[in-house]
Amino acid sequence: MVVLLLVSHNPTFAGWTTDDVPIPMEAALFPQKLAERWSQAVHLPDKSQLVGHFLQAGFRGALTSDLHSDIPRCNPIFFEERTMKPFATGLWLFSALPDIEEEDYRSTFGMLHFLLMLPGSTYPPRIPQFGLTLADLDSLISMIHCLFSLATGSWHQVKQGVANPYDGSLLAQHLAHISDIMRTRNFHTTMKTRPFECSVMVLSYIARLFEIFFRWISGAPGLHLASDVDSTNIPMVDGTIYGPRGVEGDILSELEAWRAEASLHLTSHQAIGFMKACTDDLPAFLFHKPTASARTLPVIPGAGAPDPTPRGRLKGSPLVSTTPLAPTGASPPVYTAAVSPLFTWAIGCEPALMKKPAGEALLRIRKEDPTNAVPAFKDIAAPDPAKATKQVCFAYCLAGTRGCDGTMPGRRRGAAAPLPRAQPCNRAHIDLSLAAWTRSATPESYAHICAWLKLPVVQKYFAPSAAFAASPLYTG
Ligand SMILES: [Zn+2]
Repeated sequence: MVVLLLVSHNPTFAGWTTDDVPIPMEAALFPQKLAERWSQAVHLPDKSQLVGHFLQAGFRGALTSDLHSDIPRCNPIFFEERTMKPFATGLWLFSALPDIEEEDYRSTFGMLHFLLMLPGSTYPPRIPQFGLTLADLDSLISMIHCLFSLATGSWHQVKQGVANPYDGSLLAQHLAHISDIMRTRNFHTTMKTRPFECSVMVLSYIARLFEIFFRWISGAPGLHLASDVDSTNIPMVDGTIYGPRGVEGDILSELEAWRAEASLHLTSHQAIGFMKACTDDLPAFLFHKPTASARTLPVIPGAGAPDPTPRGRLKGSPLVSTTPLAPTGASPPVYTAAVSPLFTWAIGCEPALMKKPAGEALLRIRKEDPTNAVPAFKDIAAPDPAKATKQVCFAYCLAGTRGCDGTMPGRRRGAAAPLPRAQPCNRAHIDLSLAAWTRSATPESYAHICAWLKLPVVQKYFAPSAAFAASPLYTG
């Protein structure tokens, strides 16, 4: 399994299969050769004691060498049999965070077990209540690098100054991408405002990276031998994957999509609302004692708006106990908005109207043309045709508004009297930065929206965003 997990890609490889078929660039994937000590200790069944011992010794060596002087010591809990046994026996299961089940902790080795490497972690592995610090995230990635570079590295090579082949693997390159993102100024700003959401999103992207590899490996990619002008019998592997979005593709394009989404969502202050929505959906058992106050600390009254909460109140004290506005126990509304919205206000639209929620403009359109129907998105792949069309959520999809609070409009939150439960917003939250709304959709999905945008009465108020107008999904 590690052989495939540490696959590398060489786009300049020019070679042929044994049947003399030229190998396309995207299929030039090469499994890594494992170091002998690793394959002996790790890849023999029922040697979990040996694995723990080997990794501990290996880690110690790696962590005390000059190459890794900035990495903290790995937590001894990581080497315990309950962690190492599923690892040693190959019982790995990497899933995206929302898909992890509580039982997975015990029976398989997964993404969260890496958290046990961090100093101070306890078993079972859980995400700390307030998330991870930047330093924790850095050490986590360094230690994952360190663990897998043991698999391919030999001490001979290190002595001779030969680079570890692990560094050229797709896994290493994509983990390094996350590290690069974490060094950007935008990431630091986002991390300062929302450390919990931001660090959980980093974990989530690491988990999704492993999930992509895991899906690819569990699809049993074929190993074959190839030749190039210099040599024969070069082991290669094919790249077909049944990806997380349920579409068959090749592993490189899945990784490319992952990379693009990670860059977009981890470096944008506007994506905070999006992160909040994602972290709120995660199962509670992933966290150490999650409590309502821990999960809803500071409130951002509008996606992208600066946080007006005084600095001194950000830490420690849950907002519900300090603000007289929020009724006790009610969670303050959190607004989410598309990172890449579908609509903008039309040029020439009244500035006063643009400050109001989009519903106001929709009402005016309705007054001028009573037959006008709010535009709807059509989900071509929906199994139930009755549920295939969904009205667009303007709060979410219109640029420059505060976003959707997750409930249907018409009910006001924050009033003194207890309110009947607000209806959850079931409209389409289209975000053109997400492949789910672009790659998995067709112009037909957007046909009604495009036709609506061309109505003269609509053009007075709304226009397609630049991103939408430039996309092949926008049709005349
Ligand atoms: Zn909505």
